[in-house]
Amino acid sequence: MRIINLSDRSLETGWQSQLQNAIRDPKDLAETLCIDVEAIDSEFPLLVPEPFLNRMEVGNPRDPLLLQVLPVAAELLDRVGYSKDPVSEQSKDGIRGLIQKYRGRALIVATGTCAVNCRYCFRRHYPYHLARLSQEDWRALFRHLKQDSSISEVILSGGDPLMLNDRTLASVFESLNQIPQIKTIRVHTRLPVVIPSRVTKELLSMVETSQKKVVFVTHINHPNELDEALTFSLQTLRTGGATLLNQSVLLREVNDQADTLAELSRKLFAASVLPYYLHLLDPVQGAGHFNVEELRGKALINKISSELPGYLVPKLAREVAGAPAKKVLIG
Ligand code: SF4
Repeated sequence: MRIINLSDRSLETGWQSQLQNAIRDPKDLAETLCIDVEAIDSEFPLLVPEPFLNRMEVGNPRDPLLLQVLPVAAELLDRVGYSKDPVSEQSKDGIRGLIQKYRGRALIVATGTCAVNCRYCFRRHYPYHLARLSQEDWRALFRHLKQDSSISEVILSGGDPLMLNDRTLASVFESLNQIPQIKTIRVHTRLPVVIPSRVTKELLSMVETSQKKVVFVTHINHPNELDEALTFSLQTLRTGGATLLNQSVLLREVNDQADTLAELSRKLFAASVLPYYLHLLDPVQGAGHFNVEELRGKALINKISSELPGYLVPKLAREVAGAPAKKVLIG
C-alpha cells in the first residue's frame, strides 16, 4: 500500500495557483490539445484547470473529458422543455444561502464559484453573484441551523464548497461541529476531481478531527477522470475517516456505454469510493445535446447489474422540480 504523504501540499498555494492558471480561452485549449474548436458566445465561459486538461487525449476532439467542458454551438439551440432553472431552486425564499428541499437535511450554497465549468450543469444559470454570503449571512445561517432541531445533516454545496479556502472551511466545520443535532456534514464537490491537490493537509485535518460523520460526494463521470493523483487524494480522505460516494450524470457520447459505466464503478471502488447515483440530465437550457433517454439509462443499468456486484451499481435517478425527493428509477 502506498504511504500517504501530504507534506508537499502546503497551505493552499498549490491548488490555488492551479486554479488561477486554469484555461479560460478556447484558443489555448485548442492549441494545447491540437484540435479545432468553434468559437461561441456564451455567458457560461470555458473554465478548465490543467490537471484535468492533462487527462484528455491530444488530437481527439471527441475526448469524453473534453466534451464535458468545451463550449459548443449546440448549446445555443432553444429546446422545448429546457429551462434556466430545471429543478426550481431559484424560487425558494428564506435564509440566504440555505436550500431546504428534503426533510432532515439542509443544503448550504457555500460559494458561487467552481473550479471547472461543466457544460451540462443544472446550475449553469444560477444567480451565484446573489448567493455570495457575507459574515452576517453565515451567522444568520448558523443561528437558523441551531434552532431547527429537525436538521441532522448539512450538505455543503455550491458552486463548489471546496472553493472556500481552508481557513473559512475550517470555521464552517467548527460552527457545524458545535450544533448537537447535526450528525453528518456532507460535502458535494468536483474540485479534487479536477485539481487533486485540493486535498490538503488542512482539509484532511478537518476530516480527521470532525465530531460529525463526514461524507464526500464526488462528481466523476468517466473512468479517465480517475488518474493516479485523484485516486491518491480520494484514498487519503478515506483513510482520514470520510465516507466517499460518487454521483455521475449520464451524458451522451461521454459515458452512455455499459462498458464505460462498469469501468467507472470498478475504478471508483479501487479509489475507495462507492458509486451512489447516476443522474439523468436535468433539462437545463444549453445542455440538451447531452441528453440520454430514460429507457436507455435503464437498459444501461440493467446491463451493468449483470456484470457487477450490487454495491458497484449506482441508482439511476432524476430530479423532479418541487418533489420532496429524487425519483429513483432503478436502485
Ligand atoms: S463543478 Fe458541479 S456545480 Fe460546478 S459547474 Fe460542474 S457540475 Fe456544476
